Amino acid sequence: MNGYISYPRTDNTVYPSSIDVKEIARMLGSSGEYSRMSEAVLAQKKIVASRGKRRSTDHPPIHPTAVAQKANLSSDEWKLYDLIVRRFICTLLPAAKNKIIIATIDINGEPFIANGSNFIEQNWIKFYPYYKRRDVFIPQLKEGQIITVSGKELLDKKTKPPVRYTQGMLVEKMEELGLGTKATRHTIIQNLILRGYVSGNPLQPSEKAIAVVKMLKKHAEKISSPDMTSELEMYMNGIVSGDETKEDVVDRSRKMLSEVMTVLQNEKDEISQEIKKAIREDLVVGKCPGENCDGDLIVRTARKTKKRFIGCNAYPECRTTFSLPQRGLLVTIREECKHCGYPIVKIIYKGRKPWDLCINPDCPGKDEKYKNYNNNK
Ligand SMILES: [Zn+2]
Ligand SMILES: [Zn+2]
Repeated sequence: MNGYISYPRTDNTVYPSSIDVKEIARMLGSSGEYSRMSEAVLAQKKIVASRGKRRSTDHPPIHPTAVAQKANLSSDEWKLYDLIVRRFICTLLPAAKNKIIIATIDINGEPFIANGSNFIEQNWIKFYPYYKRRDVFIPQLKEGQIITVSGKELLDKKTKPPVRYTQGMLVEKMEELGLGTKATRHTIIQNLILRGYVSGNPLQPSEKAIAVVKMLKKHAEKISSPDMTSELEMYMNGIVSGDETKEDVVDRSRKMLSEVMTVLQNEKDEISQEIKKAIREDLVVGKCPGENCDGDLIVRTARKTKKRFIGCNAYPECRTTFSLPQRGLLVTIREECKHCGYPIVKIIYKGRKPWDLCINPDCPGKDEKYKNYNNNK
């Protein structure tokens, strides 16, 4: 993406006056892809750029700096470039107008409410396919109009628990809580994955992660909350702005952490027991499929070869074993294969999509990847 976009690691959402947004819009117009969008911007009597909540002076908001040709970029690069160009152009277009209709209908003294909405002026929305919008249609009604109830239904519903965080949602949450910076948030999540604390997308915590958080909450409340980290980030911003000295901040954080370390050291034994137990739990793959066996399958390491495999915890009565790929981080997810009912494990290689592996070598749903792995063994 060299040269096509400005420096990407910034939270800034306000264009500084040194950036000639009109000129950039004109430049983008020379590309066939964006000529209509560019025209829409330049046709305005006055261009008013939208302003976000965050303003910083380190870097301007991410914006295109040159016209890219689709043929010169990879497909992922083009998607990213397209997103940045469209987003940039949209910040220079007027707000969309939405008409909201709320109908309150009285049925035997009970109010029934219907909400409708539709866009009457699209403006930027028509150039931004990444924004999901939906018109909700309700018919024209007059005040006092009498309508007929055409049917009724009593629904039995349960409230759903909140959804798990996807990596994207987590980045937003971290931003909201003041954790990390645009440059580090992504790496923080990657480290949690590589160290076996979370896996998948949406992210799911391992037993070990739950135990570590529980243990920290119990013994070192302070470092388990986001407050301490955001406090530290705040101090560091204070150093940048000159309100704090580096020495004071280092001293204060050192004191804060040494208090916590003392507590942790004193209760080391209890803490290590709790975490060890959780790590053992994380090694449980699922129920043993062996005949007349109600043991659990667990990930083990062969004493001689140091190779990992799956064995039954009822050994030596049950001698069921399964082989495992030797490379990659293994995460137990306690899910069953939809083809054969055997347990599934997740194998994670750095920088690649995680692989859900059914441990049954004779599984009818076995994918090519596993067959290749077996042939190359
Ligand atoms: Zn068994
Ligand atoms: Zn299977």
